[in-house]
Amino acid sequence: MNSFNFQNNNLYAESVSVSDLVRAYGSPLYVYSKTQIEFNWNLFKKSFGEHSHLICYAVKANSNIAVLNILAKLGSGFDIVSLGELERVIAAGGEPRKCVFSGVGKTEKSIQKALEYGIYCFNIESEDELDCIESVSSSLNMIAPISIRVNPNVDAQTHPYISTGLNENKFGVCPDIALSMYKKAALSENLKVCGLDYHIGSQITEVSPFLEALDRALELIEKLKSENITIKHLDIGGGVGVSYDGEKTINIEDYLNYVTARANDMKILVEPGRSIVGNAGIFVTKVEYLKQNDIKSFAIVDGAMNDLIRPSLYESFHQAVLIDDNSIGLSGEWDIVGPVCESADFLAKNRKLTLEKGDYIAILTTGAYGFVLSSNYNSRPRVSEVMVSEKTHSLVRKRETIESLFENEYLFEDETN
Ligand SMILES: *Cc1c(COP(=O)(O)O)cnc(C)c1O
Repeated sequence: MNSFNFQNNNLYAESVSVSDLVRAYGSPLYVYSKTQIEFNWNLFKKSFGEHSHLICYAVKANSNIAVLNILAKLGSGFDIVSLGELERVIAAGGEPRKCVFSGVGKTEKSIQKALEYGIYCFNIESEDELDCIESVSSSLNMIAPISIRVNPNVDAQTHPYISTGLNENKFGVCPDIALSMYKKAALSENLKVCGLDYHIGSQITEVSPFLEALDRALELIEKLKSENITIKHLDIGGGVGVSYDGEKTINIEDYLNYVTARANDMKILVEPGRSIVGNAGIFVTKVEYLKQNDIKSFAIVDGAMNDLIRPSLYESFHQAVLIDDNSIGLSGEWDIVGPVCESADFLAKNRKLTLEKGDYIAILTTGAYGFVLSSNYNSRPRVSEVMVSEKTHSLVRKRETIESLFENEYLFEDETN
């Protein structure tokens, strides 16, 4: 399914023309499709069949509370990496008892709050963290449900910045250390060993690294069994790649069927982020100026790297299409660049398009790691986000104002002047 389609050369978000959305909400703009989000989540659910499972949407991929609320209504769980994300989930109607808490640097305060809210499980990433969770939970006279994040040392064959499953990465612990941590945890009155987890990276398009990681995890679970430590759930992380340029990616149903077949009576947790929201969002930006020289054609647009950093940060590819493809204007191979004062400020390069000033370009598949990574660099207010469902649409985050950019700043009152 694809919620963003052309009808008579006009791009539609579900049943709403994107031109209408730009007229209503201005530019630049993120547009999300509720139907697509639901479809993507339901694909995971369907693939699990009758097998006991919990889908924990990785909040960091897109944390708008409207997105979280749509997923909460489907019964989704959440993978959170900070107290802020936990509070967001709760504000959006999500249930703490369906949340797993990942991340290498959980603060004492966030651990305490998460315990009090009664989250499903802590995904522990180091021995120090295990000690910290045990001490917080014992001081509260509580029992913390825990899982240890194992680093299976597999190469996810993805961009180095989004690869997490190698020993050289900061995430998780190696199987030997995990074993000794589990033994220690099993002796504690304030910790309850529940699961084992891993997450090997993001935008993975081949299933083999996932299967290799699964093997490593199952080996460790067997070893733990022989030590009388029972793992009730296996959390296989996220990382399922989306198709940015028509490329083939993981077949979710085949992948999950394989996992559940090997899981016996273990409950399976999965933490998809990108594969739930990636293709459910587009970024719309207006062509402000066209500029050509002997070797290059630049379309200067009102959106920039501060709004959508993926192309600059990972040199990632996103399709760029005109929302109203009228074939009027200058033909060329355009670099679509923003107004930010950095040469890395581009959204797309070498795109064959016919452009004129005032056209709107949609950068596709930007629902994940788009708005959430935006900043105010160059004192640019963050853009609006809009949700569409069939014929209806509404603002789910208003455009920031210029005044709001410096409302938390103070002049320095120096005694000497
Ligand atoms: C980022 C992250 C995810 C989600 O990854 P996607 O590639 O967006 O599916 C899941 N689990 C953990 C621990 C993460 O850090």
